[in-house]
Amino acid sequence: MGVSRRNLLTGAAAATAVVAFDPTRQSWLGHAAAQGCPGAIRIPRLDGELLFDAASLDVGATDFGHLVERRPAALLKPGSVRDVQRAVRFANRHGISVAMRGQAHSCFGQAQALCGIVIDTRTLDAIHSIDASGAWVDAGVKWSTLTLATLAEGLTPRVLTDYLELSVGGVLSVGGIGGAMNRYGFVADNVEALEVVTGDGCLHTLRHGDLFRSVPGSLGQFALIVRAKVSLDPAPTQARVYDLVYTDLSQFIADQRTVANDERFDFLEGQLIANDSGGFDFLLQAAMWFDAGSEPDDAALLAGLSPVATTTTDQPYFDWLNRVAAAEGFLRSIGLWETPHPWSDLFLDDRSVESYMRWTLDRLSPADLGFGLALLYPFKRRATRARYVATPNSRLVWAFDLLRFPFPDPAVIQALLDQNRELYEEAARLGGKRYPVSALDFDQADWIEQYGPRWRSFASRKRRYDPRNVLTPGQHVFGS
Ligand SMILES: Cc1cc2nc3c(=O)[nH]c(=O)nc-3n(C[C@H](O)[C@H](O)[C@H](O)COP(=O)(O)OP(=O)(O)OC[C@H]3O[C@@H](n4cnc5c(N)ncnc54)[C@H](O)[C@@H]3O)c2cc1C
Repeated sequence: MGVSRRNLLTGAAAATAVVAFDPTRQSWLGHAAAQGCPGAIRIPRLDGELLFDAASLDVGATDFGHLVERRPAALLKPGSVRDVQRAVRFANRHGISVAMRGQAHSCFGQAQALCGIVIDTRTLDAIHSIDASGAWVDAGVKWSTLTLATLAEGLTPRVLTDYLELSVGGVLSVGGIGGAMNRYGFVADNVEALEVVTGDGCLHTLRHGDLFRSVPGSLGQFALIVRAKVSLDPAPTQARVYDLVYTDLSQFIADQRTVANDERFDFLEGQLIANDSGGFDFLLQAAMWFDAGSEPDDAALLAGLSPVATTTTDQPYFDWLNRVAAAEGFLRSIGLWETPHPWSDLFLDDRSVESYMRWTLDRLSPADLGFGLALLYPFKRRATRARYVATPNSRLVWAFDLLRFPFPDPAVIQALLDQNRELYEEAARLGGKRYPVSALDFDQADWIEQYGPRWRSFASRKRRYDPRNVLTPGQHVFGS
């Protein structure tokens, strides 16, 4: 059952449709019940659908993590930007929480809203324009769809996440990390303009100013993103990928620092790779974009580096961007895509990265990743601009991610969640921060520590832009 302008206005549907909300009982009311309930709140007319059947509420209560489930009171499939405004105004007026849900690839309920309204942005999926000045897109468009559309015009988003089946709005709200950020910052640093709905339900088109600078990476706390103009660059056709293997952590870190500092590669990441002794070796993974006839100079790019083995491969640019698709297919085939994912995502301080990683490697085994992988790579902090993506105060920052696909044994999952907390606390003690897409139970004290000196300005912007604290409760930044 759902509420839309069409079925609200037609008599036949109206006989069964829900038309109001009872805030006392937190329940939806039909015509007859609404008339007998003095406090009933009329639901605004919508271009899309407000759903409250069990299957829709289950959608709103789940995410990729499969670790926490908080049921909303309703799931909105917006038919327009105005629907988002109506829902937020309604929520604001009646003190109901509201959260945007992109692809829900968060791991710990970040896009959920207990007893609130979850707005499923998959129906906001239009690409409005693409040219050299950027791509205007709805928040629910996936990066894979956008990238294919821009490539058809000879253009590409400047920074992309490793996995492209994420929503534009979701990634811009958390920051967005990937191999091009050493040069260009977070995905969220590469937007020309935004359309957002603040906590009072007002729509703002932003190209500069405080809200424009505050929203990217602010976890949906100040406003919901409904459209974005994503920065584009001319697209290459090919990627040359360099896989450099290290058995020595110090050498791996030294070489990563060298190539991050001189920015010699277009793309820079790294991984821990399981070795035969039950521990880890290390992979520096870099890439250069090129077109036929202007191949990269391998000798110059690899000069001064000391891996124990190097492999070089060429592939079409989009195949490289879309490389996680094959892993997804495999993980689905062995039944580990829809199971619990206790992921850990941290930003480490360069000054302590080596000692932290030695401490971690004493505790972490390949078995802790299941069929997943661990990423470890640096980026220049000064390339990043998003005010509220908290990173350590070091010139280079290291992304350290445990993308775990374990067998779904509850005891194993709990042990991995406990390990996430232990890894976070040691990282935080050394100046590290959390990348807030992971499976980590954070309360307000943790957020105050996360934002450090920026907490006061974060809280004051929350009061200004979402004074009734209705937006995005699943991050638990301001209680609930
Ligand atoms: C296989 C896989 C690979 C991944 N790879 C990467 C990677 O390479 N780099 C990276 O950075 N992350 C990666 N992630 C994590 C991912 O970025 C986050 O889960 C991110 O939030 C994804 O977008 P989403 O559409 O799934 O967002 P959701 O999980 O739906 O939402 C994330 C948060 O943003 C809020 N939100 C969503 N849409 C909006 C909006 N329009 N306006 C305001 N707030 C909104 C939600 O309420 C929630 O708090 C990966 C996740 C998976 C499962």
